[in-house]
Amino acid sequence: MAEFDVDLFVIGGGSGGVRAARIAAGYGAKVMVAEEYRMGGTCVIRGCVPKKLFVIGSHVHDEIEDAAGFGWSIGQVSFDWATLVANKDKEIARLEGAYTTNVEKSGARIAKTRAVLEDAHTIRLATGEKVTAKYILIATGGAPNHGPIVPGIEHVISSNEAFHLKELPKRIVIQGGGYIALEFAGIFAGFGSDVTVIYRGDNILRGFDEDVRKHVRAEMEKRGITIITGCTVAKIEKHGRDFTTHLSSGSSIASDQVMFAIGRHPNVANLGLETAGVAINPANGGIQVDGWSKTSVDNIYAVGDVTHRTNLTPVAIREGHAFADTVFGKRAVEVDHATIPTAVFSQPEVGTVGLTEEEARAQFSRVDVYKTDFRPIKATMSGRDTRVLMKLVVDGASDRVLGCHIVGDGAAEITQAVAIAVKMKATKADFDATIALHPTASEELVTMRTPTARHVRQAAE
Ligand code: FAD
Ligand code: NDP
Repeated sequence: MAEFDVDLFVIGGGSGGVRAARIAAGYGAKVMVAEEYRMGGTCVIRGCVPKKLFVIGSHVHDEIEDAAGFGWSIGQVSFDWATLVANKDKEIARLEGAYTTNVEKSGARIAKTRAVLEDAHTIRLATGEKVTAKYILIATGGAPNHGPIVPGIEHVISSNEAFHLKELPKRIVIQGGGYIALEFAGIFAGFGSDVTVIYRGDNILRGFDEDVRKHVRAEMEKRGITIITGCTVAKIEKHGRDFTTHLSSGSSIASDQVMFAIGRHPNVANLGLETAGVAINPANGGIQVDGWSKTSVDNIYAVGDVTHRTNLTPVAIREGHAFADTVFGKRAVEVDHATIPTAVFSQPEVGTVGLTEEEARAQFSRVDVYKTDFRPIKATMSGRDTRVLMKLVVDGASDRVLGCHIVGDGAAEITQAVAIAVKMKATKADFDATIALHPTASEELVTMRTPTARHVRQAAE
């Protein structure tokens, strides 16, 4: 009789867990996956995919506005939120089915229930069943932060609820200045809501290149989104169907919804981690892992948002795959977390890979900056008041391109391709040797000849 019921038990059927389960099963492992909500996890069910569908839908507004300059006269238009939500739900249900089928096809078994650790080799399901496993992978993801607890916090929605609102809010207040706040600000504004973003710091998108931050803010404001910085939400009052949001500055805003998008925390609570001896990383509150995603317990691994490293779907997938290769594929694979491209699907979109100018100047003694902002060709006829930003950050000593930052239509798509060059350590000369593709916005990346700034750090006397 086998020593354990399964070779691998995966807790969490999201991006990281599903990839690990399928690859491990492909290597011949006997695999079981527990999912307490819906197969596919955050990205598929209430993250990247429904968000992108909403972003695409909300862009139609711009297309309609821009059409007149190209000779179109578009009659009365209307938008139905309920249709959008229903069609999105249909697509998400289809994807959930595909995820379930693909896991089952790989030979892994799915248990649609919550699972927690009983000890280092035993998992207890909410059904009461106990399963023993040689290896355990924790891939439980994360959840929206609600704090700080302010009076009226019970009226606040997170991105989870934003996907299922019965009606499009005419006015919405969104607290936060990161990915989710800005993406939903663009979504709601595109569909016609009056949007106010409340951010505690000086400017939105902390951690992104300073030029990107300024550019995005200016462009969002041009689109009618109000961005209030330097304050927080202090209290929310409900009067019938309306809300009043009181700010720390003393002012208040009336709206139909209040949303917080103030970060996410790893799902580590009540998982039995202490009983099994799995340590938490004190620096970020996620499960502590090494470069191979192994926790403090030899046979227990953790991948994705629950480790709170880089909380992006392709990263969770890569970590899950690398875990399966390492443990079941006889091929130790360490995930390289450097130079991960990322996009904020705000309107306008942000695409970025590599170092910001500020990071480069802190790490390199000579930094050249190539920057341009220009009116995109479409705007010349649509009349839209908008500009695109393209920026390359280059090591002045080696000529290597350290970072690329784009704000404008197609920024995410362009960045995915540029990321290959940046990851390959391409030099500015390599970019320049590439003939432009005309007429595009991204041709600017290979035609910027003269640095807009050259920073040389003097050696300390
Ligand atoms: P998840 O996908 O969260 O999966 C964890 C699963 O574990 C969940 O299904 C959960 O129900 C289950 N679970 C938890 N505890 C248990 C338990 N005890 N027993 C059983 N099951 C359990 N990333 C991008 O790269 N691009 C984007 O555009 C993007 N957009 C996003 C938009 C939003 C609104 C949000 C919230 C996130 C977005 N992300 C995006 C981030 C991305 O969704 C996550 O990084 C990714 O889903 C993490 O995958 P994961 O496998 O670690 O966890
Ligand atoms: P982010 O970390 O991107 O942004 C959180 C925002 O909330 C920041 O502006 C932060 O301010 C602010 N904040 C944090 N705590 C408080 C507080 N107590 N009071 C007021 N404001 C606060 O988190 P999100 O929730 O937007 O998204 C979570 C993660 O999900 C992202 O970091 C990303 O990893 C992933 N994601 C990725 C997407 C993509 O790839 N396109 C899309 C959506 C999510 P400050 O900067 O000052 O700390």
